[in-house]
Amino acid sequence: MAKINENYLKLPGSYLFSTIAKKVSAYSEANPDKEIIKMGIGDVTKPLAPSVIDAMRKAVDEMGTAEGFHGYGPEQGYDFLRNKIVEKDYKARGIDIKADEVFVSDGAKSDCGNIGDIFSKDNKVAVCDPVYPVYVDTNAMAGRAGEFQDEHWTNLYYMPCTEENGFMPELPKEKVDIIYLCFPNNPTGVSATREQLKPWIKYAKDNGAVILYDSAYEAFITDPDVPHSIYELDGAKEVAIEFRSFSKTAGFTGTRCAYTVIPRELKVNGTELNGLWNRRQCTKFNGVPYIIQRGAEAVYSDEGYKQTREAIAYYLENAKIIRDALTKVGLTVYGGENAPYIWAKTPDGMKSWDFFDKLLEEAGVVTTPGAGFGPSGEGYIRLTAFSTKENTIKAMEKIQAIL
Ligand code: PLP
Repeated sequence: MAKINENYLKLPGSYLFSTIAKKVSAYSEANPDKEIIKMGIGDVTKPLAPSVIDAMRKAVDEMGTAEGFHGYGPEQGYDFLRNKIVEKDYKARGIDIKADEVFVSDGAKSDCGNIGDIFSKDNKVAVCDPVYPVYVDTNAMAGRAGEFQDEHWTNLYYMPCTEENGFMPELPKEKVDIIYLCFPNNPTGVSATREQLKPWIKYAKDNGAVILYDSAYEAFITDPDVPHSIYELDGAKEVAIEFRSFSKTAGFTGTRCAYTVIPRELKVNGTELNGLWNRRQCTKFNGVPYIIQRGAEAVYSDEGYKQTREAIAYYLENAKIIRDALTKVGLTVYGGENAPYIWAKTPDGMKSWDFFDKLLEEAGVVTTPGAGFGPSGEGYIRLTAFSTKENTIKAMEKIQAIL
């Protein structure tokens, strides 16, 4: 008889976004003439850059010709894109990464989730709290998280990120083997400087741990002390895997393209993780479409870069509008300076969900309750800067009017 992976049965229902959706639809049914502005979802609103569209169109035309047709591509990505990534994202910052250390994929979500395939079930995994839920749930699916009790997985090591520690996790007090770090952070919007990251490299070296560094929001970094890649730090190539994505950098959330870097120097017990991941990808993944990779390549052209940077600047301006408006009404806010997320403390110690309800029912603004990202997110809400500027301003006026 077939047996299922029982770890899936241990997963709590993915209630966060479905509960939000239910509350929003109940509200709009009860108030059909009231406008609702969504400031909760981490999806972009600006269209793809003209250079990206031109490159994709050209690739579509090629695909219709005998000479230009592309079938299965390399599982690791086409050289034209891997070479551009190496040149523009690494070499330009003085980092020596080779093209065969870059694996192009259909998303940082897939890669952050699938990377667990190359690690034993017997690893102690550390995650931040609050956290991007994919790290937690994929480890639970693999049987690495233990049991879900009192909002915690018994076998995960949680690193609380609170106002007291500036939302920076502290080094684990016990020995862990795999550490997920995400900077600029989703959901807190906080970023880590080189100095703040240095001890993590040392910890990983001293303990034989591997850092899984999610840098999906790298494009939003404005502070010169914040590294754009973990490999800017000495020794990081021996201990860290880096995940990047075109989703937020260039509006590819619906188009799907990302990449993961696994340096050759990164070995566990003498085994190169690069080779294991290559084996995994060649077996389970058949590459990102040629048309999409040509679009991603265009992000690195002079015009493409300029156009995508304009979109990032637009979102960062929205983030400033949100920060300023909430600060004005007396809320304490974090993030939004090197990230598209604003982490706002609820007033008078209100619970996340209560404040969420208040903003929805009284202002018609949808946010994300911090408690949905982990127990330490209680007492916060997350707002995103990905809406249009008009809606961002309108939402802030509505919030200001009720607070
Ligand atoms: N990593 C983090 C921290 C994210 O917030 C997201 C998306 O919201 C992703 C990864 C997913 O990126 P992608 O669209 O490349 O799958």
